[in-house]
Amino acid sequence: MEIYINIFIMFCMFVMGSLFGSFFSLATYRIPRHQDIVKTRSYCPNCKHRLEFFDLIPILSFIIRGGKCKYCKEKISLRYPLLEITNGVVFLVFYFIFGYTLNLFLICITYAILFVLIGSRLMSKKMTDEEKIEVQELKLSSKKGVFVIELVVALIIFTVYVASALIIVRNSTKKGAELIARGNAITVAVSAMEQALSKTYDELYSSSSSSTGSNNIIYDVTTDVTKYSDIDLTKKDLVKIIQVNVKYMYNGNSYDFTLKTLKGKEI
Ligand SMILES: [Zn+2]
Repeated sequence: MEIYINIFIMFCMFVMGSLFGSFFSLATYRIPRHQDIVKTRSYCPNCKHRLEFFDLIPILSFIIRGGKCKYCKEKISLRYPLLEITNGVVFLVFYFIFGYTLNLFLICITYAILFVLIGSRLMSKKMTDEEKIEVQELKLSSKKGVFVIELVVALIIFTVYVASALIIVRNSTKKGAELIARGNAITVAVSAMEQALSKTYDELYSSSSSSTGSNNIIYDVTTDVTKYSDIDLTKKDLVKIIQVNVKYMYNGNSYDFTLKTLKGKEI
């Protein structure tokens, strides 16, 4: 169970990282060109065809389309899927190092800002002369401020996105771990009950306690045996009550689970 949850989180981190890589390879392309990075949908740099939702899935869309634009069949630079994979891996590594902590969130934001700043600088060197002139004209027509505001808006959106994604995954793992702890408590209780029931009526007496540990949680098991009735003249209901109680601490809270069964004497 836990291994599946872990694989699920790692998958989420990789997807988040590759989505991030996809968005910021777009940002580093558009920012030096003073183009909007929030409102305008992605387009093919060759034929300028707007990309549909399925064309935007990181890595997969590149593989499915055989590395070519769906519309003009022009080859798409390997840079895009490589950036997506790299960022997926980077996010995974961050997760391995920091776990689900505030540090993970901070390192992702810092990485994002550095990525955009350095990436935009590098990408601005790859602009054609025509594009450079266009940018100069844009600067003269005082559209400069728009770009800064958009960068800030994009970073705010990205921050909210990473924060909410982390909160969702964190809550689901918390819930998952809580359920695992509960499931283990039930297993411990059932096996203690099975042990008690394997004894005969006469062997069953008094109480016993023991502890077992699993996943850093200590389960305290108490098996209580009490007589339900032994003063029945027909002697048909000589019955003992077996009660198994499992107590454990999880995240500073104490929980318990109780199983109750009756065992009668064979006459
Ligand atoms: Zn195209």
